[in-house]
Amino acid sequence: MTETYSPPEQIGPNNVIYWSTSKQVLEGVKQGKAIIKKALIFLKLGLVDYDQIDKVFLVHPIPNYNKTTYRIHRRDKHFACSCQFYNQVSKHWEHPTCSHIQAVKFWLEIKRWNKT
Ligand SMILES: [Zn+2]
Repeated sequence: MTETYSPPEQIGPNNVIYWSTSKQVLEGVKQGKAIIKKALIFLKLGLVDYDQIDKVFLVHPIPNYNKTTYRIHRRDKHFACSCQFYNQVSKHWEHPTCSHIQAVKFWLEIKRWNKT
């Protein structure tokens, strides 16, 4: 999956992704799975970080793959990302999840789980 987005001609269960607030899961099969898969790569490579000074989450680039560090801000209960995918999709849907936001959510979950 590349992080570009162009609106599909038709929207169906296989090409739509959105965050289900009631179920707290990513809905939509194809892209949803791709986002989770990529988020897990960020986690495994230890690329998720938190900037204490700027109070922003950081997802560092995958070595030899891309060069941009994305910044993820927390806005109330939701997250906003600086990547192109998020900015495109957020024009059509409220509070979309990109692979970086998903990585941060997993990262926080892991931290919370391991604290106890
Ligand atoms: Zn992003």
